[in-house]
Amino acid sequence: MSKFIFSFENGDGKNKQLLGGKGANLCEMKKIGLPVPDGFTITTEACTAYYTNGEKLGDAMEGEVFEYIHALEAKMDKTFGSTEDPLLVSVRSGAAISMPGMMDTVLNLGLNDDAVIGLARLTDNERFAYDCYRRFIQMFSDVVLEIQKFHFDRVLEKMKKDRGAEKDIDLTAEDLKELVSLFKDIVQKQTKKPFPQEPKVQLLMAIEAVFRSWNNNRAIIYRNLNNIPHDIGTAVNVQSMVFGNMGDTSGTGVAFTRNPSTGENKVFGEFLMNAQGEDVVAGIRTPQPVLELEKVMPDVYKEFMSTLETLEHHYLDMQDVEFTIERNKLYFLQTRTGKRTAMAAMKIAVDMVNDGIISKEEAIMRVDPKQIDALLHPTFDEVALEEATLISKGLPASPGAASGRVYFHSEDVVAQKEKGVQTILVRTETSPEDIEGMIAAEGIVTARGGMTSHAAVVARGMGKCCVAGCGDVRVDEVNKVFYVYGQPYNEGDFISVDGNTGSIYEGQLNTREVELSGDFGVFMSWADEIRTLGIRTNADNPRDAKQAVEFGAEGIGLCRTEHMFFDENRIGIVREMIVSQSTEEREEALAKLLPFQKEDFIGIFEVMQERPVTIRLLDPPLHEFLPHLDEDIQKLSEEMKIDFKELKQTIEELKEFNPMLGHRGCRLAITYPEIYEMQARAIFEAVAHVVKEDKFIPALEVMIPLVGHEKELSLLRELVAQTAVEVLGENDVTLDYKIGTMIEVPRAALIADTIATHADFFSFGTNDLTQMTLGFSRDDAGKFIGEYVQKEVFARDPFESIDINGVGRLMKMAKELGRSVKPDLKLGICGEHGGEPSSIEFCHELGFNYVSCSPYRVPIARLAAAQAAIRTK
Ligand code: ADP
Ligand code: MG
Ligand code: MG
Repeated sequence: MSKFIFSFENGDGKNKQLLGGKGANLCEMKKIGLPVPDGFTITTEACTAYYTNGEKLGDAMEGEVFEYIHALEAKMDKTFGSTEDPLLVSVRSGAAISMPGMMDTVLNLGLNDDAVIGLARLTDNERFAYDCYRRFIQMFSDVVLEIQKFHFDRVLEKMKKDRGAEKDIDLTAEDLKELVSLFKDIVQKQTKKPFPQEPKVQLLMAIEAVFRSWNNNRAIIYRNLNNIPHDIGTAVNVQSMVFGNMGDTSGTGVAFTRNPSTGENKVFGEFLMNAQGEDVVAGIRTPQPVLELEKVMPDVYKEFMSTLETLEHHYLDMQDVEFTIERNKLYFLQTRTGKRTAMAAMKIAVDMVNDGIISKEEAIMRVDPKQIDALLHPTFDEVALEEATLISKGLPASPGAASGRVYFHSEDVVAQKEKGVQTILVRTETSPEDIEGMIAAEGIVTARGGMTSHAAVVARGMGKCCVAGCGDVRVDEVNKVFYVYGQPYNEGDFISVDGNTGSIYEGQLNTREVELSGDFGVFMSWADEIRTLGIRTNADNPRDAKQAVEFGAEGIGLCRTEHMFFDENRIGIVREMIVSQSTEEREEALAKLLPFQKEDFIGIFEVMQERPVTIRLLDPPLHEFLPHLDEDIQKLSEEMKIDFKELKQTIEELKEFNPMLGHRGCRLAITYPEIYEMQARAIFEAVAHVVKEDKFIPALEVMIPLVGHEKELSLLRELVAQTAVEVLGENDVTLDYKIGTMIEVPRAALIADTIATHADFFSFGTNDLTQMTLGFSRDDAGKFIGEYVQKEVFARDPFESIDINGVGRLMKMAKELGRSVKPDLKLGICGEHGGEPSSIEFCHELGFNYVSCSPYRVPIARLAAAQAAIRTK
């Protein structure tokens, strides 16, 4: 027969799967000798059994429950339902993973018309006894009998009014007696049955209610949202009661061993005298700061503080505890690892290492890489936030905090910026035309669009705060005003945008700036000591490169040369180049582009100095640069002095059905070698410039994209190398540089050994590699990927986290083939996955040299790489 129950003395405090988090920690506290009221835990396996048994507890389980109740009675020297000295218990749910939405706790179970007399006599306090009884009926009716709370609240409020009582504690024993009787009438009326008087029946009903609550709607939704399995069940804790409501020497409270918002090493919490259960959080009276317990009960305070220290040293982490004092005697009712802000997480980890409590490795494992993001962006001052007036709430699309004047058009934002005015760009939604405004604004708000809308994606890329999809906001761009339920906000009004929470506020709020030194700096330096994987960044311009270096990037893993083409001064020349009808014409246009590209590369080299810089030659399909609206085509035809019709036709001809699989990447250069030749010339002229002017030697890596056949690479390698010889020769400069390729077409992975003979490095372009391996279009898969994840076809979106069993296999194979011919072949990754912790771990396991990610993900990657190193040790 399987065992369904463990007493707190005998339960394995490490086994949260079986006992639930609350139960396991009660056992653990008992084991280390802390004052915990006795009781027992009914396991999560019992919950599963309840469901397989057709939602019945069954005789065996019921028998076991009563066995443990008898043992508890003997231990406490109290009896269930006794008129002398009744045993009262609490019934508390507790799953392995803490889960709001499940059953609330029932306190004072075991009371009935007889036992309440016993309790009154024993404590010589009739008022207290009936207060417990009326609370019990209320809680039991709510959570077990599922009678709506308002029936009881109404009667209680009426009684208080009739008696002229302001608070619950102003009611007399006689009042409470009457209340109990009125409450029992409600139960009779609502359930057509009397309030259950038999404690054993009460207990079984409460246990069943906890099991049932595992599958209530709230709980199911919560599990879906948080990827918690549905079949692990919840445990039930039955614990003898201690009473914080026994008068002025009793009380109850909650505390953290350190401050959970700042991390300061100072106990933080609240307590309330003469109160029970969740009175503290329910706000029926104003609680006192927990440190004031010293004045009220100095001895209890001393024991309390030293117990908190014991707990922290035992769990080696900040704890969140619930406690009760019954007539000067302290009890602990719960402990768990305390939730904390990113800032607190970092400070606590650093302090604990400095105090010798945990090792650097443990500290590194403590902080969730995802949390780091919050530290890299400014936040609003907490005090300022408390007093701020909320305008509306949308999606926290891109973290950060900013205040500024409202403007509705990109040009206006740019014009204000030139005058030094800080602005917030507010639009129904953004589009690529708003780019300049988005760059110039301090923050962005949109009324429409989700977490992957244009505004959200672009803002995250720029590290700019953005709130998207504010449903209550109606934007009237023409009249330059937005409304929230009729309230207008005009151009020029100040608002504040919190991209961490999705809130927007009236007026200007103070922000707290990013602090990259201090605890953060110390913590990240430990991560750097531990990790073996290099961390680079994807950066296309000096600004991003500089930001990434500040965040700790050791090089550039991907510099996309085409992003520079969109600039106002250049796009015309780019278009000229594309619609050229002959090689001569094209070369002419390319010659005009060359100085711009050269300038860009000089800027990037100057930021990166001797750190490696991987420059990728032109990659996207050419039509991306062309106008599609007739009026724009008209304009271009005038500029280029080409006939409109002819131009339109050229543009039509460049259109592709499937551009991502079209004429792009190295394929362009196979047809138009002069494009890569110009880019190579610009790169090596830039090198020559910095070598001569700035006196440093850049670590250049030239990368050829979209290679699938070794011949593509060998031809283009030859072209680049040839250009290098010429340009470096002209300038009398020597340079050791690398030429490598992206591995993003599956064929390249399949023949990686042959490819490797022409490559000094591989950089896995996992966005395209995923797209082509799965045959999922990157631009369209968003529509169905959600369903795939929901139906668990993929555990996670493969564009977000590497599909290890598919795409990952190709990567592994390419690595093995590549290194079989070139053991020191340099390997990296430059897809979006390069900033995603589990993909980073995979790259670490494959023995890559580096990962490359966007600047704001660099610190996340540094930490994830350190965690991977620790995990695979
Ligand atoms: P939650 O998971 O919602 O915090 P708990 O099971 O911890 O619920 O119960 C809530 C509160 O009820 C506890 O913080 C404590 O104040 C009170 N409580 C629970 N069990 C007992 C008990 N045996 N004696 C006294 N108070 C209790
Ligand atoms: Mg609760
Ligand atoms: Mg609790």
